[in-house]
Amino acid sequence: MPDDALVRFFASLDQKPFRARQIKRWVYKRHVLDFAEMTDLSKDLRKQLSVVADLKLPDVISVERSADGTRKWLLDVGGGQAVETVFIPEPRRATLCISSQAGCVLDCAFCATGKQGFNRNLSVAEILGQVVLASIDVAPTEISNVVFMGMGEPLANYANVVPVTRLLIDDCAFGLSRRRVTISTAGLVPQIMRLAEDCNVALAVSLHAPNDELRDRLVPINRVHPIATLLDACWRYSQVLASRQITFEYVMLDKVNDSAAHARDLAGLLRGRPAKVNLIPFNAFPGSGFRCSTPDAIETFWQILWSKGIVATIRRPRGDDIAAACGQLAGRIDDRRTVRLSHKLLGAGSE
Ligand code: SAH
Repeated sequence: MPDDALVRFFASLDQKPFRARQIKRWVYKRHVLDFAEMTDLSKDLRKQLSVVADLKLPDVISVERSADGTRKWLLDVGGGQAVETVFIPEPRRATLCISSQAGCVLDCAFCATGKQGFNRNLSVAEILGQVVLASIDVAPTEISNVVFMGMGEPLANYANVVPVTRLLIDDCAFGLSRRRVTISTAGLVPQIMRLAEDCNVALAVSLHAPNDELRDRLVPINRVHPIATLLDACWRYSQVLASRQITFEYVMLDKVNDSAAHARDLAGLLRGRPAKVNLIPFNAFPGSGFRCSTPDAIETFWQILWSKGIVATIRRPRGDDIAAACGQLAGRIDDRRTVRLSHKLLGAGSE
């Protein structure tokens, strides 16, 4: 539940607001899902809660583990729909990549989720449930970072994503630092401006092209919010981010957006701004129509950015042996409007 709804819920049981904090600690910090074990609540309240409330984890269809430690959960969200959550362990951090929608409307040209169409927004419980489930599963490892880079466009599900984000950084709940919670967006400008007021966590923007002509094709929402408008919103957002930079994601597509001229144009857009670039090798999927740039092209692109004073990193693909890499989170559902979820259809890897 969003925080304010939880307080109202306890008020409806004639309980003080601090009960909300107690429950949040039990569920989000200690991962206790049985009211009977919540020993700082009175016995009566525990009994009452077990009648009127439900603490339930998402339904897991399968869990897959990659050789590199990456773990992927396929979750049944009902109505024949499934979404995915991915855990990515690294030497100094452990990142959870969560989904905010079943499918996506934005239809970026190179993204497997977009190809499936859109089914619906996930609820606050469905999004938060991914974090609780994964926290329990990967213990004693602690999740240090959460990124909204799974299925869906988080800012298109603004009403549910903001309460989730607030709980992720709430000291009584998950207690992550603002810098360790990242919302990734294809560029919904009005919501970026609202987010600055509502919950200014780290922002990643899927830029992928240095000019409108190309970006119109790769990221169709660009036709509504073109690059200049988007970057203007980014620079304004960065002012509320205690000296933090905006990350620009740039998927490397062979002979599409990966030339030296593209790199120079990109540097021109970002020079002198609070920006860093994350180059993402394209993860191919059947029928995508794109190829990943060559290692040489990626290296050259990266070097040009650095030579122009732009901080850039190259993302190392993780979990690609279990199709957990960016843009591969298809849930193996070909068409969200017609295909019903079946365990057989979803294939191997079930636990
Ligand atoms: N809708 C949000 C977040 C989800 S996608 C957004 O657009 O930012 C997370 C990142 O993966 C985005 O930068 C997206 O453009 C990128 N991505 C999508 N498909 C990809 C693919 N096949 N290979 C590599 N990156 C991909």
